[in-house]
Amino acid sequence: MQYLIADDDHTDIDDILKEKREGLWQNPDITPLYLGNTHTRIWVRLRLTSHANVPPDWILQVTWPYFKEIELYLFDTIDGQLIFPKSSMTQAAHNPLAAHLPFAFALSASPAMDRIMYLKLHASVKMLVPLKIVRKSTFEQKTLVRHILLGLFFGALLAMGCYNISLYFFTKDDSYAYYVVYVISIILYTLGMTGLGQTYLWPKNSWLLAHGYGVFSSFSFLTASLFIRRILSLPFYGGWPLHVTNLVAIYWGIMFALYLGPNYQWLVTTEDFGATTTCVALLVTLFFCWYQGSITAKYITIAWTLLLLSTILLMMGLTGIIPFSPMAQNSQNVGLVAEVILLSLTLAERINRTRQEKEEAQEKVLAMERQAKTELEIRVNQRTVELRRTLQALESANKELDTLSLTDDLTQLANRRHFNAVLQQECKRAKRYCQPLSIILADIDHFKMINDTFGHHIGDKCLQHIAHILGSQARRAEDLVARFGGEEFVIILPGTSIEIAAATAERIRHSVQTAPFHTDESDFKITVSLGVAELSSRESETEEELIKKADKAMYHAKNSGRNRVEIF
Ligand code: GH3
Ligand code: MG
Ligand code: MG
Repeated sequence: MQYLIADDDHTDIDDILKEKREGLWQNPDITPLYLGNTHTRIWVRLRLTSHANVPPDWILQVTWPYFKEIELYLFDTIDGQLIFPKSSMTQAAHNPLAAHLPFAFALSASPAMDRIMYLKLHASVKMLVPLKIVRKSTFEQKTLVRHILLGLFFGALLAMGCYNISLYFFTKDDSYAYYVVYVISIILYTLGMTGLGQTYLWPKNSWLLAHGYGVFSSFSFLTASLFIRRILSLPFYGGWPLHVTNLVAIYWGIMFALYLGPNYQWLVTTEDFGATTTCVALLVTLFFCWYQGSITAKYITIAWTLLLLSTILLMMGLTGIIPFSPMAQNSQNVGLVAEVILLSLTLAERINRTRQEKEEAQEKVLAMERQAKTELEIRVNQRTVELRRTLQALESANKELDTLSLTDDLTQLANRRHFNAVLQQECKRAKRYCQPLSIILADIDHFKMINDTFGHHIGDKCLQHIAHILGSQARRAEDLVARFGGEEFVIILPGTSIEIAAATAERIRHSVQTAPFHTDESDFKITVSLGVAELSSRESETEEELIKKADKAMYHAKNSGRNRVEIF
């Protein structure tokens, strides 16, 4: 195979066949022939020979789709006659198998041939000429397999796109919208790269034939950078990763806009550099975000690395570093599907993780609430127990206080206050039921002398002694013996007439006189003087008057010589 770079755009087959050009034919350095981003037309020539015992159905394939122009001429080597195209052929018939693949031509209809083939090529992007001659049956079989694989490829991309667009509508999370637009850009890019778009979707659209590669690839890079920017929430985190993705997006946005314009030729020459820089910049950004702990970045990095590796494989195939095999040519498609699926999984994983984080946060709040509730309950219980204890303590304190306030400390008899209350109550009752009520007032004789002679300590013991006797003499339940004050005592005798009260008083006087007072230090006789009074039947008589009467009687007893009972 040899090639010739046409010196002007109007060179035709007749110019090429002229003898003087013979020296311009060159042998390619690499297979397939690759001349980079050249936009001049080139001619390729090739001698084809086959023998009679070889089947006749040969197909020539050009498996690179980005040609704006491609023309085939076949001449008989022996007589130099033009065999193809026939002069009456239309433009469509000129390329009879174009519908099968980017470019395919039937070469021969007879078993034996010896021909020279000329191909005129005008590339829209890269001048890559991967030529293949295969038998028709192999071609058909390979085409079928290729179409099935491409069907799977586009099916996978469409499924991902549809699935994620529905997710977008359900979740209103615009990461999905970015993803879907990215998938659409990949679909368009691949439609162009496989030639399917040119074959089936825009066969007559010369603008897309010329601009497709640049428009689709820049659009893919633009949507990829926007998707990464969105899914990693870079505007939220800021910093240089945001600036890098912004720069990349702006660069490809401008490239995209320029590719839409008429003068795109010079742009294509910067495309490889731009693409490489973008891949490195985005990968570094992704690695950084991964390093910073973003799980999403981890998955995207893996997805992008896969795509990058497959793209590197394609580039190596394109530039002749490795053979431009179907594997090299289709590796990017495999990489793209893997990437698109991985990115979709990344989105799903992100939903799942966000949900889990939400659930965990809710669980934490619930746990906190539960703990707070338990603590509150414990505290309430503690407080209740404390309160109950306090109440019990208060109750017994109150009881004690009550007894204390009603009882005389020294003699353990009712005190004056208690006496007053009971007397008031008993007086009322006696008047209501017209019952008698008597009181006895008792005063120890010469008590001051006892105190003075034996000391206050003995005086106190003496008071207790008398109190004991009084208590034992007033035995009925309703009787009340109280300390009236100092060495004076009083006894309330409800339902008791003055005669019976006087008898009781006499009994007391006798008991006191006959019960000698013993202590460790002394032994002497004590006597008491008693005054007895009865509540009068007169309604208006008060308790004070009753006490006064008893007091008068008692003083009368004192004055009459002590140790006696006097009745008022
Ligand atoms: P009288 O026969 O006239 O009643 O003579 P008295 O000494 O018993 O009477 P007076 O009223 O002169 O004295 C009462 C004394 O009782 C005076 C006081 O010191 C004493 N006294 C009062 N309360 C107590 C007490 O709680 N303990 C002791 N030890 N003495 C008391
Ligand atoms: Mg007295
Ligand atoms: Mg006295």
